[in-house]
Amino acid sequence: LCQHSTTGPIETTLCDYETIESVNGELYSVLSELVQMPFFKYFQADLYRECPFWQENGFCMNRECGITTVDESEIPEKWRAAALSKIELPPLEERVLLPGCYYRDSDFCFLDDMTEGEYVDLTLVPERYTGYAGPSAHRVWKSIYEENCFGLSELNLLTTRSPAQVTLPDTLTDVLREPINGENADGECLEKRVYYKIVSGLHASISTHICLEYLNQTTGEMGPNLECFVTRIASHPERLQYIYFNAVLLLRAVSRIGPYLRDYDYCSMSMPAPHDHVLPEDIQEEAKTLGTLSKVIDIAEHVGKFDERVLFRGENANILKEEFKMHFRNVSRIMDCVGCDKCRLWGKVQTTGLATALKILFEMDETALDPHINHHHLQRSEVVALINTLHRFSESLQAVEIFRDMWKKTAESD
Ligand code: FAD
Repeated sequence: LCQHSTTGPIETTLCDYETIESVNGELYSVLSELVQMPFFKYFQADLYRECPFWQENGFCMNRECGITTVDESEIPEKWRAAALSKIELPPLEERVLLPGCYYRDSDFCFLDDMTEGEYVDLTLVPERYTGYAGPSAHRVWKSIYEENCFGLSELNLLTTRSPAQVTLPDTLTDVLREPINGENADGECLEKRVYYKIVSGLHASISTHICLEYLNQTTGEMGPNLECFVTRIASHPERLQYIYFNAVLLLRAVSRIGPYLRDYDYCSMSMPAPHDHVLPEDIQEEAKTLGTLSKVIDIAEHVGKFDERVLFRGENANILKEEFKMHFRNVSRIMDCVGCDKCRLWGKVQTTGLATALKILFEMDETALDPHINHHHLQRSEVVALINTLHRFSESLQAVEIFRDMWKKTAESD
């Protein structure tokens, strides 16, 4: 059974990794259904803002980099930007006084201005190999790692193991037994390590998707590329571990906000609507969305152990938290520098999703989580991003199984 160590949240999640492995098949299947539903498939983002940090001229001209946007008229009126900007917030005095209320400055994410931007149907733009690479992509990743406000010394961007040393572990437990590069070695504070794990885990998950649907130059078809996965992920076992770390973080956030999510309004009809205007399909659609989401929340409540209380405590806790927030916000702005539309879109979805999880875990107290007090606490785009990001990570964990099988078959045929 689970043995919890007392040295911090990273170690205490060891058991959770194994638990996630055992439920991921089911989690992935329910999430895959959920992200197809209208509430979760439309995402709005300002995709064509200028890069605020440097002149970006590395635009990817590959067909695979492009996306097709959805005309606003296809989006249920209630979910459009214009309708969202009409949502009335309580007067300012009440906002300050109301316990547990936090507004935009509490965010970890630089949310796009909801009055501008394109709508995208996420189900039509799979995250996969696009061909975006080279100096532009490297510059973005380097900047994200350098946003590590705490100046992490364990960052080891340019090290790779030689292929001869590569082994793909059979079980995740083997991965966990491997020491994590530099971890604890130099007394780095927990927040620094957590920042690095989040970013490196995101990078690893994106790479896993690239390797899962990689372009076979000979056949012109997309398919899993074992060598890609071994080079980018499996030869660095800690990267795989960070994918699990992010999955636990997201599940914990979903679990914490379970009652709020169960009470959220998923109906595309404006309410209250005259009784005869509510179509049975709308009611069915909403019930289906809620039913499927409830299954995700049930799994999250079962697995999502993550002791967030260990972070941002003690001396300088508030300064650390502010720094963490500021730098995470910058990560979302760096996304405007990604020179490939599809990559930028998924980068925005996932940084928004992770930022929402961080906000739920570190900014919201129990009162803030009360759906009756804080109905509009999370914007629709945050809820959509949270669930789609969890789906991305769950898909990466499924992909690991595929690559394990491929590895076994390759080993057997040798
Ligand atoms: P990169 O992945 O660019 O990595 C650069 C360096 O970082 C490596 O040399 C390595 O030392 C280090 N590194 C790699 N992974 C990790 C990790 N997990 N933790 C710590 N260090 C690491 N390309 C696509 O084809 N499809 C996409 O959808 C896509 N989305 C992207 C989204 C974003 C936000 C960005 C910035 C890039 C995206 N790209 C995408 C590009 C892709 O991530 C790679 O940059 C590209 O495939 C080139 O890979 P690479 O092997 O040169 O190394």
